[in-house]
Parts: sequence; structure tokens; C-alpha cells
Amino acid sequence: MKVIPLPLYHEKREGKLVLADTGFSYSEELANTASIFRDYLRKEAGISLREEKFPKINFLLDFNLRPEEYRLEISEHSLNLSARSDRGALYGVHTLIQLLEYGDGKHYFPAIYIEDAPHFSYRGFMLDIVRHFFDKREIMHLIELASFHKLNYFHLHLTDDQGFRFESEKFPRLNEIGSRRRGTILKDGTEDGIPHGGYLTKEDLREIVAHAKKFHLEIIPEIDLPGHTNAILAAYPELLCEGVNKKVEVRTSWGISKDILCAGNEKTYALLEELLLEIIEIFPSRYIHLGGDEAPKANWKNCHRCQEKIVNENLADEEALQAHFTNHFGKFLEKHGKTVIVWNDGLHPDLDPKIIIEHWKPGTRKRTVKAANSGRKVIMSDFLHLYLDYPHWMTPLAKTYAFDPLKGVEKPENILGVEAPLWTEWVASRSKIDFQVFPRLAAAAEVAWTAPELKDYENFVSRLQKLYSLYEKMGVNYARNKEKKPSILKRLAGTRRWWKDEDSEFRKN
Ligand SMILES: [Zn+2]
Repeated sequence: MKVIPLPLYHEKREGKLVLADTGFSYSEELANTASIFRDYLRKEAGISLREEKFPKINFLLDFNLRPEEYRLEISEHSLNLSARSDRGALYGVHTLIQLLEYGDGKHYFPAIYIEDAPHFSYRGFMLDIVRHFFDKREIMHLIELASFHKLNYFHLHLTDDQGFRFESEKFPRLNEIGSRRRGTILKDGTEDGIPHGGYLTKEDLREIVAHAKKFHLEIIPEIDLPGHTNAILAAYPELLCEGVNKKVEVRTSWGISKDILCAGNEKTYALLEELLLEIIEIFPSRYIHLGGDEAPKANWKNCHRCQEKIVNENLADEEALQAHFTNHFGKFLEKHGKTVIVWNDGLHPDLDPKIIIEHWKPGTRKRTVKAANSGRKVIMSDFLHLYLDYPHWMTPLAKTYAFDPLKGVEKPENILGVEAPLWTEWVASRSKIDFQVFPRLAAAAEVAWTAPELKDYENFVSRLQKLYSLYEKMGVNYARNKEKKPSILKRLAGTRRWWKDEDSEFRKN
């Protein structure tokens, strides 16, 4: 049984179901998944399933199962996949794709019985399309791969200091000015002088959202506020704090900018509300991510308007002003049926308890766990385990796999799940994305899907070969030979090499 993530329960049986000119029937509610399954078999194995009355393969609706659950029963005579919804059936099909074997000139499924359902309800991947822009085609391919790993959320980081990647009809300067930068910094500190830009049009985004829906993923858009906003400030400098007398440009380098949106200016609130209306018109997701990370407060401290807001709203300080700012948009979006997520930098005693935090920051785990134990909903994206942009030396496969989202948590129901982000400062191509993401995403998927008591690293590694052969078929440039746990010295040396030259590891692949 070489399935990743490992199913909840399985039982090997005798025999196999040989596929040839095989009959197929499915419940109408599962038609979407049935077509994905049929297309896969036709393309990958040259097998055409024909619809018939007494078929060997059946996709059945079963209301006794939970929403994401599926049950699979394969004997030498038949294959029955049962699910309550198309979503559950799709997870069953992703398992079937991994079970499919070839031998003696024939494709077959080994006889098996599987009952499977995810451990966490939130299983996410994040892609930063700002630091380097990736277009619709690349995003749609990653959506399919995320779905294949049984993830259900695709977080799209759309805005940052280095670019604004969402088409705004109301604020065209966000694209005319905010979507391009004059160059990109290199590891030696110089700039390449090559203009970099791009954004997703609303038409692109509608297509992306529809594609994600077919694969049962929700796209969560992120508009990072109030920090990481130099692209917005370059387009609309009137949103800068009072006393900042300089021209802000779309940044060409990484890191943290001290120029952030003024939280005392009513124009900031007005523009962002209009922009968020454009966002929610495109994205049906129940969640909207508002960033909230790395927002230095020096400008707010020296700004008459920000200080006035602090007094008028009876706030303790600038940190409380950020909580007030986030709460404002949280309430605004709540009226439209949305729930806000922010990075855990935004965690503050004043923060609306309905706002979800995404934990990432090293050294803050205790605070996050305390918040979860007091009732706050949390998504775990632990930097040291789940940030896929860091080198495999620093974050080996085994380390990602070992991540325990529930460590120290007294109220596990408040940990919604796990998300693995890919920031793209040093990731400029599709093949580099693949190299950073796979197979670590498979490890993250098992953390999110598989019951914690069933997790076992050696066993996981023993199941990887089958996954690798599927990656190859799908044209995924996964990182090879990363299964061994490297010693701490090797990890340090490899990480140091990467800091000097991010491609040193990639080129060896
Ligand atoms: Zn201000």
C-alpha cells in the first residue's frame, strides 16, 4: 500500500482487478470526479471506460459518510468507491491513481479495502506570486498538484512591497504603477536591472477559481495590510503617514519596509473597502487573508493622524491601532459573510476573537498555543518546519514530516489545520518551485491528513517511490534523494552555502 497521505484504515485483500474495456457507472452527484477519473485513465493508461448497466467500477453516493470521507472496496470482480459528496470521491480517485499498477501488459488495481478521512479540516498550500510573478497556467498546474495531495485550500499571496498582482478596475494605478518594479535584487546585493511585473486579470482569476472548484480547493486571496504595501503606496502616495516626505517605489529588494499604510487616514479605509469589494466579487472563499505581518510602527508614531486615531478610539498604543485596523476590515468583511485570517504577528489582546491567526513566527509558539487554548482558531504554518522556500538542508523532509501541530494544545478543535507556504524571493521558475515544494508538500500533506498516531517517517519514505514515479509522469521536477536525515553539521554547512548562492542546491538536483 503505497498511498500518500496514508489512509486512516486499510486492509489488503487477495487478487486484483484487471482493467481492459471496463464498464463504469456513477451517481450523477459524482459526475465531476467521474470525469477526472475517466480522463486520467484514458490519458495515462490508454483505458476507455464505458458506461453500462452492470459495470465493474461504481462510484456511489453514501450519506452515512462524512463530507470529506471516502470508502474504497476493490476485489477481482469490482471496484466500489463510496462518498457523500464529489469532494470525498475525488480524494478516493487520488488514492486510486496511486494504487494503479502495471504488469504483464495490463493495468490493474490490487484488491484492497480502505476507509479514509482527513484528520484536519484545513490543509493548505500558499504561493507568493509577488516576489516573482507566476501566471494562470502555472497556478492551475499547482492547484491540481495540491489537490492530488488531498489539500483543500490554496492561499494566493497577491500583494506585497514588490508588486500588486490583482487587477483592480476601481484603482487602475495599482496595476499601472504597482504591478511592476524596475529590477530585482541579487544575492550579492546588486540589482539585475531587468524590469519585473505582471498581474492576474479578473478573467484569469475567474478561470483559476473555477479550476480550483473542480479540484475542490478554495482559493484564499491575501491582501497584505498594513505593512508590505509599498506597491500600493507607490501608486497612491497620499496613503502614507504625515511627515513621510519621500517617494515610495515598488521595492526591488526583499525584507521589511518601514513605510506602511497610514491607519489614521480615512482615505486608507475607503480605498481598502472598495478594493475588498472587488476581491470578494472574484473569490467565493469564506476566508480572506489580510496579512498583518511585519508592520514597523515608526511612521505611525510620528504621524499626527495616526496619533489622533489612537486618542479618539481610546487605544493603548500603535500595536492596538493595528488590531483596531484589522478589526475594522474584519467587521466589514463579516457583513459579506467572510472570515479574516492574519499572520500571527497580528495577534493582540484587542484582536476580534473571530479572526483566525496563521502561526509562522519562530519563537512565538507558546503565545499561539495560549491563544488556541483560550479559544482562538489557528492555522499552523510553522516557519522551521513548513516554509518550503528554505533549502532542503535547513528544512529536511524528515523535519517537515515530524511537525506536530497539536504539541502543547489543550483544545485541539481550535487548530484548524496546517499550511505550507512558498515565498518566492529566490524562486523564479516553475522547475524551482517544484524543487522547493516536492516532496516536502507530501510530508506536509501527511501531517495534515493522516491521524497523528499513524505517522511513521520510515514508513512514509517506503511509500515515496510510487509518488516519485507519478511526479515524473506529471513533469514535476521534485527534489531527489532528500529522504535521509542529515547531521546538524551538514545542515548548517548546506544552509550557509544556500544563503550565498540560492541555486547551489538546485543545480545539483
Ligand atoms: Zn499615519
